[in-house]
Amino acid sequence: MTGLAAEIEVGCEAVRAASRLCLSIASSGIDRMEKSEREPVTVADFGSQAVILRAIAAGFPDDAVRAEEGSVDLAAAGTSAVDGVTAAVTDALGSAATPGEVFAWIDHRGRPGSRMWAVDPIDGTKGFLRGDQFAVAIGLIDHGVPVLGILGCPRLELSGMQGVLVWGGPGIGAFVQSLGDGKVRRIGVSGVTDPTRARMLGSVEAAHGDPELLQQVVEQLGIGGGWVRIDSQAKYAAVAAGLAEVYVRPRNREDWRERVWDHAAGAAIVAGAGGSITDLDGLPLDFTTGDVLDLNRGVLVSNGGLHAAVLGALASIG
Ligand code: AMP
Ligand code: MG
Repeated sequence: MTGLAAEIEVGCEAVRAASRLCLSIASSGIDRMEKSEREPVTVADFGSQAVILRAIAAGFPDDAVRAEEGSVDLAAAGTSAVDGVTAAVTDALGSAATPGEVFAWIDHRGRPGSRMWAVDPIDGTKGFLRGDQFAVAIGLIDHGVPVLGILGCPRLELSGMQGVLVWGGPGIGAFVQSLGDGKVRRIGVSGVTDPTRARMLGSVEAAHGDPELLQQVVEQLGIGGGWVRIDSQAKYAAVAAGLAEVYVRPRNREDWRERVWDHAAGAAIVAGAGGSITDLDGLPLDFTTGDVLDLNRGVLVSNGGLHAAVLGALASIG
């Protein structure tokens, strides 16, 4: 038995509600806005974060939170964006929310301590806007270790289910639930160790990686299963469910640092499914350095069986 039953229940319910909010906004047309570093953001990003942090604040008020969005960017987007988010949150909760409450939920950061929730209300906003994959992601980090991950992937087909919730962690296992009929199945990584049968996962956005380096890894190991390209942490869900074996995420520039909320949930789930997660030098991901993984170079996620071979190839490529 895991000791995280309440966290799983509250987290999964929040991610289901946030996933519905995102799909509902997508079906009525999404306006793209821009925040710092010219990254896209939408009404759904803010609404999803408000719904999730409201639940975490109520259920686990003593836990710390790191989350991608802040109300400053929503305020800067103007009145119609604020009204849109407030209406979407009201709809998701089934009771009237005020703009003041919505701002406070978006900015909830809890109390510093040993437990921290890493929240990306829409991971893969570019995919969300394109009509492709995205993930509502929450990870719970305890003393620096991702112990629980929950991903809402409303457009992902996994284990024969269309639109899924995926959760798991070390000592928990990993599970997929249909967002439609609620059926639950246990998932696990693929047992493939022969590189000629291995499938590579990659971003849709080439600018989020280093396509040349990835091609060198494929050639050096003779990886023959082809590419699966998916936006967001849905890539971690794909490894966890055995849809592909290797996800190499190099830096695309020396100064880029991966965000904790882009990896915490996925890392917990893949660990629960029996896979491995390190950086490209084979070091464990260090989730204790703030909003970014400051001490890690890139990320390598695999089914475990191919991990050492990929690290060897990366070391020889340099
Ligand atoms: P993906 O879905 O694999 O394309 O990754 C989406 C994530 O890429 C977003 O959550 C962003 O935080 C992150 N991202 C944004 N810009 C960059 C960049 N220049 N290099 C790597 N990742 C980035
Ligand atoms: Mg993200």
